[in-house]
Amino acid sequence: MFAKLIGLKATLLSLIGATVMFALTIHYQSIYQAQWHDKLALITYLLYGMLIITAVFSAQFNRSRVTLLCLLWGLFLTTSDYDLPWSKWLIANNQWLTLCGGGLLMLLALIKDRGLISIHGVARLIFIALCGALAYGWLMLADMAGPMLPKHQITTTLLPLMSLKIPLAIMVLLLLWQSLRQSSLTLTTLLTGFIVWCLMHFQWITLPWTAVIGVLVIHHLLIVIIDAYYLAYRDDLTGLASRRALNQLALSLGRKYTVAMLDIDHFKKFNDTYGHDIGDQVLKLVAAKLGKVKGGGKVFRYGGEEFTIVFPRKTVEQSLPHLEELRQAIADYGMVVRKPQRKTKKERKAKPPGEKTVSVQISIGVTSRKGKQQFEQALKEADLALYRAKKSGRNNVSE
Ligand code: GH3
Ligand code: MG
Ligand code: MG
Repeated sequence: MFAKLIGLKATLLSLIGATVMFALTIHYQSIYQAQWHDKLALITYLLYGMLIITAVFSAQFNRSRVTLLCLLWGLFLTTSDYDLPWSKWLIANNQWLTLCGGGLLMLLALIKDRGLISIHGVARLIFIALCGALAYGWLMLADMAGPMLPKHQITTTLLPLMSLKIPLAIMVLLLLWQSLRQSSLTLTTLLTGFIVWCLMHFQWITLPWTAVIGVLVIHHLLIVIIDAYYLAYRDDLTGLASRRALNQLALSLGRKYTVAMLDIDHFKKFNDTYGHDIGDQVLKLVAAKLGKVKGGGKVFRYGGEEFTIVFPRKTVEQSLPHLEELRQAIADYGMVVRKPQRKTKKERKAKPPGEKTVSVQISIGVTSRKGKQQFEQALKEADLALYRAKKSGRNNVSE
């Protein structure tokens, strides 16, 4: 079960980041609040500016859920800052606002990032309205149930819990679960927003909303920036650094380094036998093994079923044992892959998806930088060495 918690690292880092930011805000509040009042208008404008920038930036990077979140924070802030027609009603219906806000965040966690102005955008607005109506209905039901139920200790303690605390607890658990089982920074920012929203409602944080939304919007912006970095420099399928990251590293390498090209043997045949989906799963498993390389090696997905490992400041002799270790580990690795789902219901019933153990081998070509060689030339030499490894029977390391 725990192997599936691929979002654990992102969730923890995101929550720790938010906690540190809030701890600092709370710690230094006496300092900034002393100068807060005369500059409040300026701070509020700045906050609106930050919300707009984050919303636009998120939309640019196809993180429409963060955009929506910023718009909702903006709406909430405007409602509490100005005397809008619905402001009084919202203040009076504080419980509804909390339940609806929590529901919205959970809803955003269950849907995908899709174009803001599209049919999905319209569907989203309908869902938001539905969420508001459901929250309203639920609270009304709880209100009506109170006088109707027998006056018993269980009902009097359970009912207030049922109306708000229990739904919120269920939602936060659902959100946490979503965030843990998917590696998505957007989900972690939704979870953070939800937790802060609840902490504010129950007054466990007593900061002004301007400060809270200020911290949250910085958190959202950082998350989108880190996400954008990953988008550019990480390979989507394997999670390894991408070829663009390799080009970046090439610029910062010193005079001495070793570079290895790795290629899965007969992978085309493997795909033909087991299908592309299992091929993808195997690529991920191989990448995970390569990621454990020792000796300071840096791993990249060069493209397709080819990988590159760079050992900065190392000779071929120093790098060879680590590469040999990888080759052996992959050759010995019985990879458990999930068989793809059958297409039709009938097929699914006849043959439920099961697990299967497969194995692949890799060939490696390795070379070190010679003289004043450019990185591209060293890479080409490693590729030639890989060709020799293939020629000499595959599943070996060649210089
Ligand atoms: P060799 O031992 O000579 O390397 O044989 P090969 O079949 O591995 O070599 P070739 O380069 O001809 O084939 C590479 C195959 O890798 C082609 C394609 O089917 C497969 N492949 C490349 N990228 C992916 C991918 O992202 N997913 C999957 N499933 N297969 C991929
Ligand atoms: Mg190849
Ligand atoms: Mg190959």
